[in-house]
Amino acid sequence: MMSKIVIGNQKMYMNKEDVLTFVETLKNTNMDNKQVIVCPTFPFLEYYNGVVPVGAQNVSINDNGAYTGEVSAPQLKSLNIPYCIVGHSERREYNKETDEEINIKVKKLLDQDITPILCIGEKLEERQNKSTETVIKNELNGDLKDLSPEAVKKIIIAYEPIWAIGTGLTPTLEEIDEAMNFIKDYVKTTYNVEKTTILYGGSVSDKNIDELNTVESIDGYLIGGASSKPNAFKYIIDSQN
Ligand code: PEP
Repeated sequence: MMSKIVIGNQKMYMNKEDVLTFVETLKNTNMDNKQVIVCPTFPFLEYYNGVVPVGAQNVSINDNGAYTGEVSAPQLKSLNIPYCIVGHSERREYNKETDEEINIKVKKLLDQDITPILCIGEKLEERQNKSTETVIKNELNGDLKDLSPEAVKKIIIAYEPIWAIGTGLTPTLEEIDEAMNFIKDYVKTTYNVEKTTILYGGSVSDKNIDELNTVESIDGYLIGGASSKPNAFKYIIDSQN
C-alpha cells in the first residue's frame, strides 16, 4: 500500500519551547519516502521550514495593503511556504468564513503556486439527517467555483466531519470509505478530474491510526490535536510505509 500523506494542523496549541522540542523530534524521525507536512501558526513557520514541508493555516483574501493582522498568498510565497489550509471548520464557524471567501483564498493560493488544503465536512445534525453528501457538494461547488480541471487537480481536499474534530469520535471505517469515494466521484464527474487527493481528518491519533491505515481510499490525514504531541505524531509518521 502507498504511504499516506500526514499533515499536522497545529492550530494555536504550542509556544516556542514546545515547537523547538517538536522540531527535534522530527529531525529524529525517518521521513524517507514519507509525505509529511506541518502547519504551525505563522510565527513558527520558520522553525519548521527546511526540516519538513510546511503549510500556513490561513491566508488573506487580499494580496497586499492595509489589512492589519492578515497574511497574503504573495507573502507566503516570498517565504517559500508550499501549502496552506483553507476553509477549516473552526474558521468557518468562529470567523464566519463563507464559501465565497474560501473560493477567493483557493484562487489566491493557486496564483502563487501554493497548494491549498481545502477542508470540508458536515455537522453532527447534518449527518444525522442524512444530508452529509448535500453539504459536501454545496461546499465543493462554492469553494471550487470557476476553477479549471488543472486547478482542481492541484488541490488537496480534507474531509473532516465537524463532529469528529477534537472530540475523540470518528465515523466508522465504512463511513469514511463511503465519504472518500463520494468526494472522489463527485470531483471526477463535476470537474473532470481523474484523480484527487482526499484526506481524512477528525480525531486521528496514535490509537486509531493503525486501523485507519487499512482504508485504501484514504490518501492521507489532517491531524489536529495529535499533531502537537511529538510522540503521537512520530508514531503516526512511523506507521506509514
Ligand atoms: C483538525 O482540526 O483539522 C482536526 C482534524 O483536529 P483533531 O485531529 O484534533 O480532531
